[in-house]
Parts: sequence; structure tokens; C-alpha cells
Amino acid sequence: MPEPRIHFRACNLCEAMCGLRIEVEGDRIRSIRGDADDPFSRGFLCPKATALEDVHVDPDRQKLPLRRTGDAWAPIGWNEAFDEVARRIAEVQARHGPDSVAIYLGNPTVHSLGAMTHGLPLIRALRTHNRYSATSVDQLPHHLAATTMFGHMLILPVPDIDRTRFFLALGANPLASNGSMMTAPGMPLRLKALKARGGRLVVVDPRRTETAELADTHLFIRPGTDALLLAALVRTILEEKLERPGRLADLMEGLEQVRAAVAPFAPERVAARTGIPAERIRALARDFAAAESAVAYGRVGLSTQAYGGVAQWLIQVLNVVTGNLDRPGGALFTRPAVNPLGLAPRGGYARHRTRVRKLPSFGGEFPVAALAEEILTEGPGRIRALLVLGGNPVLSTPNGAKLEKALGTLDFMAAVDPYLNETTRHAHVLLPPTTALEREHYDVVFHLLAVRNTSKWSSPLFDPAPGAKHDWEIFQALTRRLRSRGRARLLRPFRALVDGIATPRRLIDLALRTGPYGFRSAHKLSVSKLEANPHGIDLGPLEPSLPGRLMTPDRRIHLAPEVLVRDLARVESELLSMPRAGNGELLLIGRRDLRSNNSWMHNSQRLVKGPERCTLLMHPDDARARGLAPGQTVQVRSRVGSVPVRLELTDAVMPGVVSLPHGWGHGRPGVQLRVAASHPGVSLNDLTDDQAVDALLGTAAFSGTPVHVTGA
Ligand code: SF4
Repeated sequence: MPEPRIHFRACNLCEAMCGLRIEVEGDRIRSIRGDADDPFSRGFLCPKATALEDVHVDPDRQKLPLRRTGDAWAPIGWNEAFDEVARRIAEVQARHGPDSVAIYLGNPTVHSLGAMTHGLPLIRALRTHNRYSATSVDQLPHHLAATTMFGHMLILPVPDIDRTRFFLALGANPLASNGSMMTAPGMPLRLKALKARGGRLVVVDPRRTETAELADTHLFIRPGTDALLLAALVRTILEEKLERPGRLADLMEGLEQVRAAVAPFAPERVAARTGIPAERIRALARDFAAAESAVAYGRVGLSTQAYGGVAQWLIQVLNVVTGNLDRPGGALFTRPAVNPLGLAPRGGYARHRTRVRKLPSFGGEFPVAALAEEILTEGPGRIRALLVLGGNPVLSTPNGAKLEKALGTLDFMAAVDPYLNETTRHAHVLLPPTTALEREHYDVVFHLLAVRNTSKWSSPLFDPAPGAKHDWEIFQALTRRLRSRGRARLLRPFRALVDGIATPRRLIDLALRTGPYGFRSAHKLSVSKLEANPHGIDLGPLEPSLPGRLMTPDRRIHLAPEVLVRDLARVESELLSMPRAGNGELLLIGRRDLRSNNSWMHNSQRLVKGPERCTLLMHPDDARARGLAPGQTVQVRSRVGSVPVRLELTDAVMPGVVSLPHGWGHGRPGVQLRVAASHPGVSLNDLTDDQAVDALLGTAAFSGTPVHVTGA
């Protein structure tokens, strides 16, 4: 009988980076608990952590490459698979040009060390402008605000949740997400601590979320109108001379342009449209400005709406004019041990436009809402081949059914994914990587977004399955083959040498040693030092860092970027004058669930058991008006699709709004996710509309999809 052993690592299933204590006997996991000695998460974990084990032992998980012929999948060798993928991509590009091949990066790629260290060379080796990712169905507006105001898309202010006296959350449910663009494990304790020290929690959301239940104040807001509320809050603060930028006054420019831009948005003018009375808007502005410290924070519900770009900008304006940017208790910038700024461009708004709809690029990517039409629309530049890295866009991007149809028309598709899911089932070649417990891990992205500076290395717990490969090995093998075309052939010996040295461990080690806590500091961080400290190392609270962190050409905060000021005028002309929903129309919003993050988690029995969670929430008044009863199956119809779903009545959604969670819809043929298929649910994105985007950025406008609901 092998001795039980204890393994410590960071959970990489969501952004929270919880420290885990895993008890193992041989190759069997006995328990997964929170690591009480982790200086960041202090023993917290959520129910999703068990999915690490469930994925590891999942019989549906693929471990070796597969090739599809018709509907049948057959195993092939790794070299054969790599050669085939590289050859088919090269053939398509030779015939139709470099942009005829596209790449899509799903959300799991930012949770993978190998994707961070070896993904970029692969993307570059494809030599295509047709790059897409989950960013444009999530946090893209944060990056535009960061680029235009602070000079780089990854200079992202993080709410100082542990010290603030006033936390204003819009379109965010941190109690379910444990923070997003704000890595904060143990959010229930952090929010309770905020209240215990006399701080205030205000939530603005069309649904009384789990976070709103805990709030001092919850304001229902009509979906898609947050930009109006934020403009009115900024206007009130400026009109009533409540602004107190403090030392930021010397670091910024553009306050007068902001004053002029928000002038049309009097609370009395936006009240009817937002559903929030003018007096409550004014009171919120006054309280926020008067708080000893305060921070405004908006997440996916705010970003993914037709005016999400403007809304995320105004959040930062609110923080700046009240002096809450770059001060304890406000929004601060992190000082991560591994600086990821080199992994992304500074920004680069609208350097290119999509072929069909002329949507702008940002950060070298196009909005994924355009992907289906770029595949389906005939003509020069049409996408004919696709590489998907760790994503399931059929379920996670708007009008998934249209994308699904498009995937079926491709000349070639390959996917790097351990599952045959709703998207990857359309691939011709599947390249499955190892999963979390078989890999070493360092969170390159989420230390950048964490509410405290820490550093942690996770060693692999298990050996990979025989013959299995890590994602970075897959990326490296494909990169090598793709590069070996043309003149790059000359560099092959040199690159082979570099590839052999550049493992994820060595790259992180180098970044740690040369980073702010490396050999020049007292910490002397390296991978081996972190291995000797398996609970992680605390590097202290976030500290003010301006103007040093600014990367704008003049090293100043640009409070009124022209592109955003201009778009605020669009908010006035379109949103204020737009007719309200009529003809029995309801506005559909999504919802986050503590036990779900990515669609593949639905193949964990422990995470899907219990009462059905894929239900449509509706206010009782709306149900009564339609003659609908709780528990009955209703038909939800939008411009693009129709799904049947069980109805749940609750006054937690405001009248006129219905809510459906995302990531479900596992009833499609060809999917090899047996647990998920027995709890299929329906896909929210069979209702959301690929044509509904923020015209500024092309971000999917999920919040407030017009739908009709009738008895099925
Ligand atoms: S909150 Fe996120 S990081 Fe923490 S245990 Fe749950 S899934 Fe893992």
C-alpha cells in the first residue's frame, strides 16, 4: 500500500488561483481541500476544484491524436497528426492566401502556462490576420480603456477589495466568480470583511445576484444601459463639484473634455431609460465621491453590451475624478513577479477591419462575432481553415448555431483540446494535450490581476498518460513545421536549438530572476525558490505606482481618449432615443453559476448533479401576463433561434428581463461528453445574435437580447 502524500498547487480552473492541498495515494486522489497555508487564498476553495480530479480520470478525455473521416474518429500518431495539420494549413494558404486560415483561442488558454509561453510563436507562424479569441465575448472593453488611458492593454487597474470602504459593482457577480479581472479567492469572506469594517457594497444589475443579496444596496438596471448610468454619475460629481482627483490632477489631462462629454447625461434624463430614479443616481454619485475610499468595478455584464467600451472607460473616469485610482482602497496596479506585458501589443485599435462587416481589430485580433460570416461569405479572403486552441465557440460565442454551420463548410479544421465537444467535433484532426494535474503551472495572467502580489509555482502531480503531450509541445511541433516553409527554413538549426532550451519552466525561471523580485531584490525569486515554498510567497499588498507605470507617450493619464469621447455621443444619439422594448418583448441576460465556468465542466458528475440549473428566470408579473406557470417548458425565441427551456419564476430578475446561464446545450450529435449529454440544457448562444455588437469594438452585445417567450 503506497504512503499517502500531500501535493500543493494552485487551481487554474478560474481566475481566483486558490491554493489546493491534494492528498494522493499512488495514482488515486483521496481529497482536494483548500490550502490553509496559501498566503493568498488562505484555505478557500470552491466546489469546482473537484473538477481537476474529474477531468483527470474522465473516460471521455482524449489522450492521443485522432483523425476524423466522415463521422468516425480513428487514432493516428503524433508526427502523422502534426504533419497533416501543417500540410493542410500550408495547402489552404498556398491556394487562397495567408488570411484564409484563422485561429481561435478559447478562455482555457489564458489558464495554461504552456499556451502563455508557446502560443504566441504558433500564432505568428500562421501568418494570418484572422486571429480570434474569447476576449471579444468578455473583457475587450477593459483593454481599450487601458490602452487609451494608461498606454498598454495590460495596464489594468484592480479593485483594492481588501481595503476599500465603498465597492460599486456593475454587471459583476464576484460571489459566483470569485473575482474576474480581479483575482480574489475567498470573495465571500472579502465582501463580509468589507461590511464588517463599515464599508458599503452597492450592486447594479438587472438580476439580484448572489453578490446583490449581500449588498447594502442593489439597483436594478435595464440591460444595456450602464453607460447612461455611469455618464450620469460622472456628470453629477462634476456638476456638484464633488471631484477630488488629488495628486492625480497633476498626472492627467482631459477633465474638461470629460465634463463636456457627459453634460447631456443628467440623471433626470437617463432615469427612465435605465430604470433607476434620478434621485438614487444622484445619491449614489454623492456617496461614492464622499467615501473615504471607493472603487467602481464592472465585469462581463457591463463589457458585453452595445456600449460596453464606453461603460468600461467611464468606470475608470469615476475612479480617477474621485481620486480613487492608484490609492489604497481604490483601484491599484499590480507588480507581478512575471511581467506579461510583452505577451500582448500595447493595443492597436482598428489597424485592420474584418472583410465582411468591417469590424475593427484590437490587439491584433478581430471580434469573434464576425467569425461565422467570414467563413460563410464567398469571395477573396474567405476563411477556409481554422485552428482552435482550447475553446468551444459553438457554445460560447453569439449565434453558435450559425458558427456550427460555418465550421461544417471548412476545408480543414484542427483543434487542440482534450474533448470532442460541440466545436471540436467538426475538426479533422484533434490534438489532445495533458490536463492540469499532469503539468507544471505558473499563472502568468492572473497574478497581473490579483488583489495582492504573490507568486506560486505548481509542480505536476501525475506523470502524463503514456504517449501524451503537453500543449506547449504540441504548439512547438506545429510551429516548427509551419515555420519550415520558405525562407524561415534557413533559421531552422538555430530555432531548433532555442526550442530545445525554451521550456515553460526555463522561461518562467528567467522571467522570475530578471523581474522585480528577482536577483536584484531581497526575494531572489526563481522556480527552485518557489518549489521550496509550495504554498506560494506573499509579496505584499498593492501599492501606488503612478506615474511610473504609465506607458502613454507623455506618461500622463488620458482621461478623455478621443475614440471614447466620440462614442459617448453615439450613446446619446442611439441609446437615449432608442424605443423601449415593445410587443411583449423581453430582454435576455446570461448568468454565472458557482459550479460552472467552462462548458467542459459539465462533464463532471459532481458539478452537474442536483436540481436542474439551466432554467429561464422570469419575473412573476411577466409570467402572469403570458399565462405561464412555474416549472413548465417554454419556448424562447430571438431573431436568430429558438430553444425550449424550463421556466423558473423569481422576483430576483426585474420585470421585462429573463435570464439563462451560459455554457449549456450539450444535446448536439457527435459530442463525446457523456455526463454533459445527460444534463444537456440549452445554449444561451443559440439565442444571442452575432449581429448585435458594440459598434466601437465589435464586442458581442449579449446583455439584453430581445426575445419572446411563449408556452412550448
Ligand atoms: S474559485 Fe476558482 S481557483 Fe478557486 S477552487 Fe474554485 S475554480 Fe479553483
